[in-house]
Amino acid sequence: MTSSVLAERLMTVIEDDILPLTERGVAAGNKVFGAAILRKSDLSLVIAETNNETENPLWHGEVHTLKRFYERSEKADTKDLIFLSTHEPCSMCLSAITWAGFDNFYYFFSHEDSRDAFAIPHDLKILKEVFRLEPGGYARNNAFWRSAAIADLVATYAGEEKIALQQQDRRIRARYQTLSDAYQSGKDDNAIPLN
Ligand SMILES: [Zn+2]
Repeated sequence: MTSSVLAERLMTVIEDDILPLTERGVAAGNKVFGAAILRKSDLSLVIAETNNETENPLWHGEVHTLKRFYERSEKADTKDLIFLSTHEPCSMCLSAITWAGFDNFYYFFSHEDSRDAFAIPHDLKILKEVFRLEPGGYARNNAFWRSAAIADLVATYAGEEKIALQQQDRRIRARYQTLSDAYQSGKDDNAIPLN
C-alpha cells in the first residue's frame, strides 16, 4: 500500500462515512469531531462515529467510536487496525487510543486548526494547563504508536496524484467550514461543559 492510496482512502472515509454522521450530530448540538476505524489489510471500514457530547461530555469523536467498537460482539485485534481522527486527538483521546492498543493514528486537522479555524481551543489549553506542554509538545511517535497528519502524507506526493489529493483536501475543508459555522452559531444553547 502506498501512502497516496492511504491518504485518498482516509479522506474518502471522512467524506463518505464520518461527515454524514457529523452533519446530523452538529444539527443536534454536538461538536464537529469524528473518527473511524479501518482494517490495515484492505483499508475497509470497521466503524465510523461522531462526537456525541450532548449525551456525555466524554463522547468525543474518538472515544465515542471506541465505545461503539467495544459494544460489538466481534472485535478485531487493534494491532490489525488503523485509527482515523478528523481532528488531532485531545489528551483524553490520545490516552484512549493508547489504552485500546492501537499502534497508529492519522488525523486531518491539527490542534492549531481546532483552535484557529474551529474556535475550539480546549485541546491545546488542556495540554498547556494540565501537562505543561506547548503546541507540538507531545511525542508524535513513541513506544505505543506512530501518528501522522494526512497533510504530511499528501505532501510527499507530486504531480497529478498530489493535485487530486489536494482537491479532496479542499472539499473536506469546505464541508467542515459549513459545519463549524453551524456549531458556533448554536453552541450557546447547549450544556456541553467546554463548548
Ligand atoms: Zn478528545
